[in-house]
Amino acid sequence: MSTVEPNLLLAHCTVLDARVVDGVNPIPDAAVWVRGDRIAAVGPYAEVAKEARDAGAVREVDLDGAYLTPGLANMHTHFSLSLPGAGGDDVKTMGPHDLAYYMADGARRTLHCGVTTVRCVAEKDHADFALRRAIAAGRAQGPRIHTAGRALVCTGGHGHESSDTLECDGPVGFRHGVRSQIKAGADLIKVMISGGIAGEHERINTPQLFTDELAAVLETAHAWGRKVTAHAGPAEVIGAAVELGLDCVEHGYQLTPQVVARMAEQGTALVPTLLVTRCKEFFDELGVPEWMQCRSLGAGPRHLESFAMAVDAGVEVLLGSDMPPFWHFEGTNATVRELEYMAERIGPARALHAGTRGPVRWLGVEEDRGTVEVGKLADLIAMDEDPLAATSAFRGVRWVMKGGRIARDDRTETA
Ligand SMILES: [Zn+2]
Repeated sequence: MSTVEPNLLLAHCTVLDARVVDGVNPIPDAAVWVRGDRIAAVGPYAEVAKEARDAGAVREVDLDGAYLTPGLANMHTHFSLSLPGAGGDDVKTMGPHDLAYYMADGARRTLHCGVTTVRCVAEKDHADFALRRAIAAGRAQGPRIHTAGRALVCTGGHGHESSDTLECDGPVGFRHGVRSQIKAGADLIKVMISGGIAGEHERINTPQLFTDELAAVLETAHAWGRKVTAHAGPAEVIGAAVELGLDCVEHGYQLTPQVVARMAEQGTALVPTLLVTRCKEFFDELGVPEWMQCRSLGAGPRHLESFAMAVDAGVEVLLGSDMPPFWHFEGTNATVRELEYMAERIGPARALHAGTRGPVRWLGVEEDRGTVEVGKLADLIAMDEDPLAATSAFRGVRWVMKGGRIARDDRTETA
């Protein structure tokens, strides 16, 4: 990795970002000046080029008419995911050293897909904290990581089978669970409040926490300045959690108009993870057993209906794949495929928001990321098609920059 501070002029591109949910103002024939890890100027090529050259020597990187957007942010990732089945067992039985390399490989692939920010919502053995340190120190390549550490579950609850969860019981137990993850370095807290697709002894609509347990999680996390997101399926469980002050819902398989109305009022976000109920090809690849496939794919139509309800009610919806973000799936990677499914309902402009600025706002890092603006970190991606015409343009990401350093450039490097 070069130690020279970047000083680059990204030339000949159309700059796009979502300043407001439905409003994108493209800057055609633009340039972006990147100095150090941040954006120093954005605007028409001639102006920005002059400003940059007047300030000293710059290297010009010709983007050749590409569309330039902020890097994508994937809000539901697991680099150490192990679903039931042979593929998952391979990951589950890894020792700590193998697991660390496996996760680092996933992080590098993820960055190369154009994902510059991830939110990890259950990772094994606190290896995510080591990965986050390694990436921040430049010892490993990957996106900026916000992580929950291990997800909190009740004894025998959703995901208890592996070391990416921590079993807790009672309000005292859950308070300790929250504190233990924050002590390890958690940026947020993830809690499983209902059953799910991957649990053999539960249903999607099994409630798993008592009110005093969830209240203890929320109160403790919020006191420490951490947001809480919950794996949740059924409307009653989600409705009660929203009233208690939950910050984000994962999946939301069985939402109702009443619950989405309250989510919109309270500002509770939804990460729908639409892929998890329509990814038979992925399940087959991992040898996922029949019972889980039936439950997953069977929940698909209701899941999509829930997502539509949330969008119509004005709930903030955010990109999250659940599948490993880089996984090759239906001709692209899981992150882009998820965004395409979301765009079928919300359209390309809102999809751009849901994959960039929306997540960054939830994470509380909007000052630094999410748009192509002076002073922000240079986390940028380029593609030849227009993502405002079709979200599938992200399939063609061919250039990735994180913090002013080029992580991928298909025109200068061999794969
Ligand atoms: Zn998940």
